[in-house]
Amino acid sequence: MTTNYFKNYPNHEGFFEEFGGSFIPPQLQAEMEKITDAYYSISKSHNFISELRSIRKHYQGRPTPVYFCNRLSTKYGGRIYLKREDLNHTGAHKLNHCMGEALLAKYLGKKKLIAETGAGQHGVALATAAAYFGLECEIHMGEVDIIKEHPNVVRMKILGAKVVPVSFGLKTLKEAVDSAFGAYMQDFENSIYCIGSVVGPHPFPMMVRDFQRVVGIEAKEQFFDMTGELPDSVVACVGGGSNAMGLFSAFLDESDCKLYGVEPAGRSLEPGEHAATMTLGQPGLIHGFKCYLLQDEKGEPSPVYSVASGLDYPGVGPEHSMLKDWKRVSYETATDQETIDAFYELSRLEGIIPALESAHAVAYALKLAKQNPRESILINLSGRGDKDIDFVVDTFGLPE
Ligand SMILES: *Cc1c(COP(=O)(O)O)cnc(C)c1O
Repeated sequence: MTTNYFKNYPNHEGFFEEFGGSFIPPQLQAEMEKITDAYYSISKSHNFISELRSIRKHYQGRPTPVYFCNRLSTKYGGRIYLKREDLNHTGAHKLNHCMGEALLAKYLGKKKLIAETGAGQHGVALATAAAYFGLECEIHMGEVDIIKEHPNVVRMKILGAKVVPVSFGLKTLKEAVDSAFGAYMQDFENSIYCIGSVVGPHPFPMMVRDFQRVVGIEAKEQFFDMTGELPDSVVACVGGGSNAMGLFSAFLDESDCKLYGVEPAGRSLEPGEHAATMTLGQPGLIHGFKCYLLQDEKGEPSPVYSVASGLDYPGVGPEHSMLKDWKRVSYETATDQETIDAFYELSRLEGIIPALESAHAVAYALKLAKQNPRESILINLSGRGDKDIDFVVDTFGLPE
């Protein structure tokens, strides 16, 4: 599967079967085609590859470890392992694609990086990359998230980025994407749009996946070195789907490895109370691409909610949409309460405070472990939870 898989998906128009593509105004389409062509040639050049390798090693601190959770496994059963993306510089997997996107901007001679952010993690990662390369950085963020994710807003400003508050609609991630796209349309000569996940028009879902593949490549080798086998199950949370695609990509052709993407079931599966796109969505269009989408009768994206700001997106990556139809990946859910419980379990049994996004994957993995006590599970711990601590304790309190 692998040899041809990455050549065939996406195809030249950016389609993963019926999903993906590029549904954008002609002017923007012309710009995307330039970026696509440049990406195809630059990403294969020796200079680009060796510079990215060096950045990953010396700046980001890669490879991040794979860690066996002894106490968690003893309590829940199974053998539970974490890929520690929380130890990647800036505390989440997002820097993997931000350094790649910013490096591409440098090779294209762009001066400015523009992006949206939800939890603030993508904004911080991109502001970090901009500082590293000496580029300007403009981050669009919903006003609701600005309040909720205050420390990340301060981090972006310290790093020299301009934070643009978005005050329309639900004032969260979806509106921030619209606002950032608008700003990019005004100035695509000098700037490049750096999307935060495996979403958006071609070539973003492909580029972001490619930059995240390092997670899966490392983890597969590390897991094999530690155990002499491959994991029975691989679990990752899915917002847009970048951390999950990064890890899954190395296991797609290993038919014995079961792959699980975990979406937020939020407060309930009633409309507006969750962001379980794969579970309850239908194919539709959002932000210039086709994917499973939570939408109303008119095809407008529905309001979504998750306790984890990084997961509250009504769409999902086109590659995930395809993998769902292929039944190669099972898409499951975790509720807010299950997520909070998992957040505290990992903190207290292993001394690792997970991001609320990642805690969704941990929550589902704990269920799997109970059901399959003889099996091994590899979880992508996509980020650390320092950004969430005040919110969790103020909203849910401390357990006994
Ligand atoms: C942004 C974020 C996510 C969700 O993004 P994906 O593209 O679905 O990976 C997950 N975990 C953390 C820590 C994040 O910051």
